[in-house]
Amino acid sequence: IPTLRLDDVTKDFATGTRALSGVSLSVSRGEFVSVVGPSGCGKSTLLRLASGLDTVSGGTLEVDAAVTSFVFQDPTLLEWRSAQKNVELVGELAGVPAAERGRRAREALSLVGLDGFEKQHPRQLSGGMRMRVSIARALVAEPQLALFDEPFGALDEITRLKMQTELQRIFQLKSFAAMFITHSISEAVYLSSRVLVMSGRPGRIVDDIELPWSYPRP
Ligand code: ADP
Ligand code: ADP
Repeated sequence: IPTLRLDDVTKDFATGTRALSGVSLSVSRGEFVSVVGPSGCGKSTLLRLASGLDTVSGGTLEVDAAVTSFVFQDPTLLEWRSAQKNVELVGELAGVPAAERGRRAREALSLVGLDGFEKQHPRQLSGGMRMRVSIARALVAEPQLALFDEPFGALDEITRLKMQTELQRIFQLKSFAAMFITHSISEAVYLSSRVLVMSGRPGRIVDDIELPWSYPRP
């Protein structure tokens, strides 16, 4: 069964805007699907529907995942908390005992290459490192579905390339189902096993391209 499945989904906002029309797709475990298309074609709306932050107006959407994580373009870290405490927040809300959530947070920070930075506060970290904390916070709950809304869009080119390599490594290790919005075709091609091309208003999927390689890559 796919982790995420949409069948003929429509999204209408209260303002009268139809943001999506006739959107059908599925994403399974081990698939990294990028979504590209011009501004306003409904990419973010699609991701918000997949995350449960918003509901469909027509058609069906099914999620087969106990945990879904969302990574935004803005890392949205709590400035008064250390990197470690930012990542622990998820466990705190879920009632995970302190020792256990501490261990999990350190492991997640280590996964994104932040060993030794646990006690630093967001403002002491570079843009790339803040994004790493944000990714660690998303992955600490071991999601089956991970949704990324242009996470590397605000980073400089070098940091962006580093983050792409890192995310790919983590994905190969954890093998969740991923949906990743980007404005960069090269980023989509580098990261994904599939690229969805969206276009129009309302937004539709105009192409669904299976890339001719699969993980692990040479
Ligand atoms: P993209 O992410 O591809 O730039 P969006 O999903 O943000 O596109 O937006 C798709 C369309 O839906 C746009 O016309 C946008 O103005 C509209 N839209 C998005 N969110 C809302 C909202 N909360 N209320 C009304 N219209 C919205
Ligand atoms: P990134 O590419 O993750 O944004 P930078 O290129 O800014 O990282 O930094 C490269 C390296 O410099 C980091 O991996 C880290 O070891 C070190 N570094 C960056 N910012 C800090 C900081 N605030 N305190 C200590 N070391 C830092």
